[in-house]
Amino acid sequence: MEQLDAFLRAEIEPLQYAVFFGGLVVLGSLETRLGRSHDVPQRAGRWPTNWGLTILNILIMGALPVTGIYVADMARDAGYGLFNWLPVNPLVALVAGFLIRSFVSWAIHLAMHKVPLFWQVHRVHHSDTFLDISTTVRFHPLEYVINLTAVLTALLIFGISPVTLMLYELFDAGMAVFTHANIRMPQLLEHSLRMVLVTPDMHRIHHSSYQPETDSNYGATLSIWDRLFRTYREKPPEKLATMQIGLDEVQDRRSNSLWWLLTLPFRPRRLRPIRPELHGDTAGTLKGGGNR
Ligand SMILES: [Zn+2]
Repeated sequence: MEQLDAFLRAEIEPLQYAVFFGGLVVLGSLETRLGRSHDVPQRAGRWPTNWGLTILNILIMGALPVTGIYVADMARDAGYGLFNWLPVNPLVALVAGFLIRSFVSWAIHLAMHKVPLFWQVHRVHHSDTFLDISTTVRFHPLEYVINLTAVLTALLIFGISPVTLMLYELFDAGMAVFTHANIRMPQLLEHSLRMVLVTPDMHRIHHSSYQPETDSNYGATLSIWDRLFRTYREKPPEKLATMQIGLDEVQDRRSNSLWWLLTLPFRPRRLRPIRPELHGDTAGTLKGGGNR
């Protein structure tokens, strides 16, 4: 365990970048072959904004003064947290810590939807009108601050070890790209993976503009928490294919405006659709209405 810790500690940043950017390349190429053929990715409008937010977030994450590993080290050295109190086998602590870290991610995501102030921020991610690899890091930078604060608190409460945390972060970097990818897998594979993992179809339902579907499938990595807390939802493939993605009231060019997205947390809670007749054209509307 100490050797693994030393290896990960030395290589964690290049490994994270390799998993994330490798995932973008592999799944991006799969999107061209396994994508939903009847969908129009609207890349010209979406990609500059999504990759712009991705670059901004990577820069901000690198500039944040505290990291999870620093706090996990501190908790271990000071004896804070559940796993630093209980005399548990290191392997048991690793598996249990991994599951708890996954649960924390599920719980934070649930809070992002249920706490009004957090939703103001998280709706930036949900305002994308299409789902593909570029949606993965389409978040408002404030979401990272909220998320990091919650994760650091959980690390102090549970005493999750640095090695467990680093393994989870690598797993999460790959799963984040995978779950947002616009790929259709064979149903047998989809359903087999979904027993334990969050799959692209499962996460796609969470990005539906239909509220009861948005309020489901909060998992980012493991599907077990949605199953356990009854927020798991399925949808037949034919309905998934025609489901409207995004915010019901923002199916227009605002969803591709970097400025609009960066200021979205400070805009009214209740957004209104653009009425084309007030703008003198219909070009602002990305889609012709609900196609759910
Ligand atoms: Zn969400």
